[in-house]
Amino acid sequence: MTTSADIKTKYQSYVIPTYATPNLVLVKGKGSRVWDNDGKVYMDFVGGIACQNVGHCHPKVTEAIQNQAAKLVHVSNLYMNEHHGVLAEKLSTLSGLGGKCFFCNCGATANEALIKLARLWGSDEGKYEIISMKNSFHGRTLAALAATGQTKYQDGFEPIPEGFLYADLNDLASVKKVVSGRTAAILVEAVQGEGGILKASDEFMKELRALCDEKNILLFCDEVQCGMGRTGHWFGFQASGVKPDAFSLAKSLGSGYPIGAIVTNQKLADIFQPGKHASTFGGSPLACAAALATIHVIEDEKLVARATEAGRIFAEGLLEFVGAYEHVKEVRQQGLMIGLVLDQPAKGLCQTLAEMGLLSIPTAENIVRFLPPLNIKDSDINEALDIIDDALADMHGVERAADEE
Ligand SMILES: *Cc1c(COP(=O)(O)O)cnc(C)c1O
Repeated sequence: MTTSADIKTKYQSYVIPTYATPNLVLVKGKGSRVWDNDGKVYMDFVGGIACQNVGHCHPKVTEAIQNQAAKLVHVSNLYMNEHHGVLAEKLSTLSGLGGKCFFCNCGATANEALIKLARLWGSDEGKYEIISMKNSFHGRTLAALAATGQTKYQDGFEPIPEGFLYADLNDLASVKKVVSGRTAAILVEAVQGEGGILKASDEFMKELRALCDEKNILLFCDEVQCGMGRTGHWFGFQASGVKPDAFSLAKSLGSGYPIGAIVTNQKLADIFQPGKHASTFGGSPLACAAALATIHVIEDEKLVARATEAGRIFAEGLLEFVGAYEHVKEVRQQGLMIGLVLDQPAKGLCQTLAEMGLLSIPTAENIVRFLPPLNIKDSDINEALDIIDDALADMHGVERAADEE
């Protein structure tokens, strides 16, 4: 067996350090668990950053990927494949948008497609500006980066592409301030993930829809992190009953097999005509097979409802820590998108949790984010709560809050 030290040496010598060197070498996953190179098992509440909504290596998804990989992997979009239209119909129907889909490879390229769609739609009328929210995250390509309302991601990459303006989440007045005759689209995450599990209020979503209808502006949602059942709805925007004109998907769509998508309504279904946009790998037979299998598992195992129920149980447990531990300030929760807000950087606690066998991910500096699979068992949630209790007691130098039974 290659030792973890050998693997780390090669990593540090040859992999461009866009990430701080990780501590763990993960070699195996099953459901809510992953194993490292030394055989240690962890509960995985990162899930590839919200990619494993049906858990690692779900047998139905694995089978679909294996079968398709043995049959046909990729042919380009010069040809149709048997799954492309089926997946597009499924997403169009589930979302209620009733239009069409374009497939790409990740979240950034899905948002890139939304931005190009807005510009093409608005080009005759000189509308090209995109308004997004401060604190948002839309990806790392230059246009997605421009839409990302956090300067820390943009620093050093100037000049940032033009035509991007920012407003405050849940503050309609701040949106109105930057709306003009040049506005093509407003882009919003139904729940900000990287921003710290912050929900666009139902009222704000309704106000945005009304404003867009009044001013002939497109409303877009970024569902890359909060989509595919995670919030207890197939798509985060469905909580408000508001329908965007189009939205982006990626992360959990293919259970970790790379696939991104945009889903549009009828009005935008045929804006892109041949030659206007493309993706070599987009909608490949293998990617579509992974996504279709993922959707079938979410449907068959009723995981959208399970996200609501499991999220409630998890959040109730976490809430007990708010009063009990001085440095725990708040629990933010939408289904199984969960943040434990501390009054100090979250990195240290995440590190302790990992050492104790629970993987989590810090976000927005002082928030510990948990993104467990939607089919998480109650017993796993309780086990995780125990570990979190231990880690918090450790951090505070006190006894655990929950009574030992
Ligand atoms: C992760 C993320 C993206 C970027 O997705 P990539 O697949 O990394 O390009 C975009 N938007 C949101 C909301 C995300 O969470």
